[in-house]
Amino acid sequence: MQTPFDTLSEPLPRRVVAGLAKLSLVLRHEAWSQGREQRLTPTQAQVLTLLRARGPLRLSTLADELAVRAPTASQAVTALETKGLLRREPAADDRRARAIRLTDRGTAEAERLSDWPDVLQAAVDDLPEAEQAALLRLLTRTIRGLQARGAIPVQRMCASCRYFRPHAHDDPATPHHCAFVDAPFGDRHLRLDCPDHEPADGALARRNWRRFTASHPTPED
Ligand code: SF4
Repeated sequence: MQTPFDTLSEPLPRRVVAGLAKLSLVLRHEAWSQGREQRLTPTQAQVLTLLRARGPLRLSTLADELAVRAPTASQAVTALETKGLLRREPAADDRRARAIRLTDRGTAEAERLSDWPDVLQAAVDDLPEAEQAALLRLLTRTIRGLQARGAIPVQRMCASCRYFRPHAHDDPATPHHCAFVDAPFGDRHLRLDCPDHEPADGALARRNWRRFTASHPTPED
């Protein structure tokens, strides 16, 4: 049955997106103010933090990971090279190709930038742990939806990992299993950027996703 609020309010999905947009404003504002201190654009800051997390990368990988066009990534890399924050060198797996690596100064800058905005971290810290875990699960689902629509590249998260075994255990606190470390884990442990991630093939990824999102998964799911 409809309540007056159903007709008076914006549709629920629109209000959820409006909430996300407010969070993104905070992130953008913080990225600009941090970058201004260090004379970096948000893209340059993202290049530094990505290289810190992943080690040396080729330009094409960098552009893919940041979901920007190659000329945009190239511009950011050239600017950072001029500032002495990174350098290009032969790639480890192909000496003819070039990889981009942080210099010592670049690593120090990236470490400063990698801290999440204190204000956002504090707001999340204030949530009860169960709500933090629920939020992490919802973020996983939303990010996966963006991935499926080609809006962002495949992220190194459990939901797309070949080691992920969703709802493999009866314990509601730790229902999932990571076959890489061979251990059970719960929603609160879900990873969004795991260094051990390896992409699942299409069929496994789809099967895992069905099981992960089913409210009452059965062994046949
Ligand atoms: S290897 Fe990492 S991403 Fe893959 S299931 Fe284990 S924790 Fe998740």
